[in-house]
Amino acid sequence: MDYLRFAELYHALSQTTKRIEKAQILVPFLQELHKSGRPEWIYLLRGKVLPDYDPGEFGISTQIAIKVVCVSFGVTSAQVVQKLNTVGDIGEVAETFAQKKQQSVLFSTKLSVRKVFGNLSKVISIEGNGAIDRKLALLAELFTSASPLEAKYLVRTVLSDLRVGVADAILLDALAEAFFADDPSMRMKLEEAYDLANDFALLFDAAVEGKSAIDHIALVPGRPVKAMLAVKADSFAEAFRICGTPVAVEYKYDGFRMHIHKKGEKVFLFTRKLENVTSQFPDVVQAIRKHVRGDSFILDCEVVGFNPQTKKYTPFEAISQRIKRKYDINKLVHDLPVEINVFDVLFFQDKSVLDLPFVERRKIVDKIIRSEPWKIRVSSQIITENEHDAEAFYKKALEVGEEGVMIKKIDAPYKQGRRVGYMVKLKPSAADFDLVIVGAEYGTGKRGGLLTSYIVACRSGDQFLEVGKVSSGLKEKEEEGMSYDEMTALLKPLIIEEKGNEVVVTPKVVVSVTYQNIQRSPSYTSGYALRFPRITIYRPDKGIDEIADLADLEEKA
Ligand code: ATP
Repeated sequence: MDYLRFAELYHALSQTTKRIEKAQILVPFLQELHKSGRPEWIYLLRGKVLPDYDPGEFGISTQIAIKVVCVSFGVTSAQVVQKLNTVGDIGEVAETFAQKKQQSVLFSTKLSVRKVFGNLSKVISIEGNGAIDRKLALLAELFTSASPLEAKYLVRTVLSDLRVGVADAILLDALAEAFFADDPSMRMKLEEAYDLANDFALLFDAAVEGKSAIDHIALVPGRPVKAMLAVKADSFAEAFRICGTPVAVEYKYDGFRMHIHKKGEKVFLFTRKLENVTSQFPDVVQAIRKHVRGDSFILDCEVVGFNPQTKKYTPFEAISQRIKRKYDINKLVHDLPVEINVFDVLFFQDKSVLDLPFVERRKIVDKIIRSEPWKIRVSSQIITENEHDAEAFYKKALEVGEEGVMIKKIDAPYKQGRRVGYMVKLKPSAADFDLVIVGAEYGTGKRGGLLTSYIVACRSGDQFLEVGKVSSGLKEKEEEGMSYDEMTALLKPLIIEEKGNEVVVTPKVVVSVTYQNIQRSPSYTSGYALRFPRITIYRPDKGIDEIADLADLEEKA
């Protein structure tokens, strides 16, 4: 297959924001793609060459992309920068220069998907000395034989800014329509299978084979699975209505979600964003080997930080460093130790236990965990049908400094990736939203060169809509919390466009933002503005699909 087929598809997809139309465009393409016998090429639809959970990145900045354009099309960086300043999009810049080059050469070779996929995979794997030059050479090889449209989307791909909007739901719609048009029940089956596998190549391959191959997609320790999500309640009466009584009530620990997998001697740790954080938590790996019985399992846990001197639990902010930091791990293990609170199990002794009722899964947890204070324990729980007892447990949770409680439906299965009301959260109300940073502005004076105020956005379907500009909450020094330096380092590689003092960034960095109230406002694309917004925490554990939705804002306005 020629890469041009992909480029034309990207173009067609970018012409509509409608979910149905996008799916319709994808259906014939998927039917054609499967004939290639290379299901992994489906990753390219989202600008990747790896499954979604794999954090592998191209490591290409706008600066390097400019160099690639120069080398491939024989232009100077001044020409590229000048063009970029007028059109504002490096994709279109590459398209223009590719066009000019195309007019001046007589022969051109076709670019195959095999070649693109192969070179892009190599770009991701290259590390160490001279990495940039080798990446540049691999990309230049592709760009030299790229047509203008191909060049446009290749640049956007390597900058992780494809902008064609193929969200999970759209790809699932398209797979269902392409391979199971006569069976409407398959759309949900595909989604459940995807939430187990988190790998569209695997799902695509199974979809081509048929229904039973989809049914056979199973949990595998070592491959991340989406966590079951909670719905919110404002009272126990509401929570009891959602779950039915009796319910299990547990402490809501204030740390971060971790799925802990074990297969033989191997332990794997994943965040709720499906990021593999095993190497950041050698202490957790050790505790699991020592304190949990069983050769293979997947546990659902909340990992909480504590101060080793005072033995007081620390807020999420402190241990978020443990997720981010990839060096000095032993020092962090010592300075910021964590305790594992296990509250569920998905897989045990070579078998999925997703369909067992929650009480039965909890029995397994009780049986296999050997608790040790400050290392690992089973979450505190009561089972009750009495609101009074539940209230007392809630009060106790708040007294000991927990965030609130989780109320769980005792006979419910585990539904990966879903917010189905089997798990309900109840906590004192706080006005905050998780939002994603889509733009920023450079500071002045002693904060010159640092990005110090941030445009934050919520979601609406596939789109990100701005809700305000935040310039408070960050600290001058790293020891005091998230600093301007750290945030600048996170955002700079994501810059897509610079306009004077302002930058546009790829939506990736999720932050919790508190505010005083919400007002209607024409200043932002959402139509709303947060008043007195303040960043409280950077959420490296959360993905952009987990941020607040426009409907959440409308509800609070
Ligand atoms: P917030 O953004 O308000 O801090 P959140 O969005 O991370 O919270 P919520 O949806 O409010 O999470 O609550 C669900 C989360 O609570 C789970 O994802 C899990 O990380 C955490 N949690 C803590 N204790 C428990 C428990 N006993 N059972 C289930 N989840 C728990």
